Amino acid sequence: MYLAGEWADSENGEVSNAINPATGEVMATVPKATLNDVNRCVEASRAAFHGAEWKNIDPAQRGRILHKMAAATYEAAKELAKIESENNGKTFREALSEIRYGAWTLEYFAGYADKIEGTTIPVPGNRLNYTLRQPIGVTAHIVPWNFPLQLALRSIAPALAAGCTVIAKPASWTPLSLIAWMRKIDEANVGLPSGVLQVITGSGRLIGDALAGHKGVDGIVLTGGVPTGQAVMAKASENLTPVTLELGGKGANVVFPDANLKYAAKAVCFGIFMNAGQMCWAGSRLIVHEEIHDDFVAAVVAEVSKWKVGPGMSEGVRIGSLVHENHRAEVLEKLADGLSHGGKVVCGGSAVKGDGAFMEATVVIDVEPDNPLFYDELFGPVLSVSKFATEEEALSLANNSDFGLLNGIWTNNLSRAHKLARDIESGMVSINEYPVTFPQTAFTGWKQSGIGIEQSKDALRFYTKVKNVNIKL
Ligand code: NAD
Repeated sequence: MYLAGEWADSENGEVSNAINPATGEVMATVPKATLNDVNRCVEASRAAFHGAEWKNIDPAQRGRILHKMAAATYEAAKELAKIESENNGKTFREALSEIRYGAWTLEYFAGYADKIEGTTIPVPGNRLNYTLRQPIGVTAHIVPWNFPLQLALRSIAPALAAGCTVIAKPASWTPLSLIAWMRKIDEANVGLPSGVLQVITGSGRLIGDALAGHKGVDGIVLTGGVPTGQAVMAKASENLTPVTLELGGKGANVVFPDANLKYAAKAVCFGIFMNAGQMCWAGSRLIVHEEIHDDFVAAVVAEVSKWKVGPGMSEGVRIGSLVHENHRAEVLEKLADGLSHGGKVVCGGSAVKGDGAFMEATVVIDVEPDNPLFYDELFGPVLSVSKFATEEEALSLANNSDFGLLNGIWTNNLSRAHKLARDIESGMVSINEYPVTFPQTAFTGWKQSGIGIEQSKDALRFYTKVKNVNIKL
């Protein structure tokens, strides 16, 4: 762990194993922090926040530090990607592009450090009225295992740019890339004062929970599942600590006959089988017009059949291992439960035999809205297919979900595309492309997909608070 500017074991020396899910091998042991470690970490973060070195630093200098962090991340990207691939199971190519994306996010927010401005407000009488935007303070970042380093950087970057101090906790299965990244940042001497950025490791139930309920934490950012979001929000409510929650999804790709179907079939595969389907924004539902249903499903199956499944570090592999054998068991259980409600498997459907937590890319057709395959997040390589006849029906199917993260629309009819983009209930909509996001665009979920905004300048709102100042002249 990296606590108060130093590398540290947990107070009682306990560790847990970090595993390579493709082989089952133990890659490293990682400290299991105690509640005392959490207190020590929060204290160091508070001291760093109130210390003159961070608070009073020229904001442009904060930006320069972030630029140096971005440069160190780009430089170490291949090394970090290998660790990410081995600890998470994803392919090296995926890991590398994610880590470069994380570096790009640091760069994006580096540019904002000296552009966080208040306003002046016209008020009656002989007065001057203005607002200051000030950092909220100590922020705790609870990170999931599916994009371990990239999702950590997604929130660390705006928090530091705003002048907050950061405590990051990786998921227990995938702590290695964040620790390795922290080591690179430490070695690069980027100029972060001690305690401004810390990494603490341990279970969500103990350490995540303690951070969420800590009086010394001023903001909590969680990316995780809905039940975790509920637990974190409940805990945070004890101190009325604000939260940003990026939770689950059940994205739909709605495909009309007038779309570029060849390209759409490839993108639909990318949207659900990339990262072995372990994506909040996965397009796990395919809602396709009845006229083209059979041909389109055949094109999707033909495409994914070309995707090689295997260890993430092997050449040519497109689908790596799932993150853990326990997770694979859960995905297979949910798949079996769904199939007991209906639907027909036209591709895959099973674990891959042999070592490692591998699973076949799976396509299930004839999935009705009352089937859990339609509404539950499986978080694995499983695509559920449903048919529609009219545009109204397509919209109603797409919106028939408790989630609302990303939905895709495939059509070359301009007015239909804009109409659906307006009426679809999700924080993000993508037309004729899936999935896509950029550091400068909001990543945000509606409904049970979350609260708040990551990425884009709007993310900075969470990390700053407004102070109104009135002066009688
Ligand atoms: P998870 O909810 O199990 O864990 C996420 C993090 O929360 C981990 O660090 C974990 O240790 C911690 N945690 C667990 N229980 C906790 C508790 N009671 N209190 C505090 N912290 C706790 O999620 P996961 O399995 O790592 O990731 C998968 C989930 O994350 C999926 O539902 C997925 O959709 C979601 N996700 C969302 C986004 C997004 O941007 N919307 C991105 C990636 C993943």
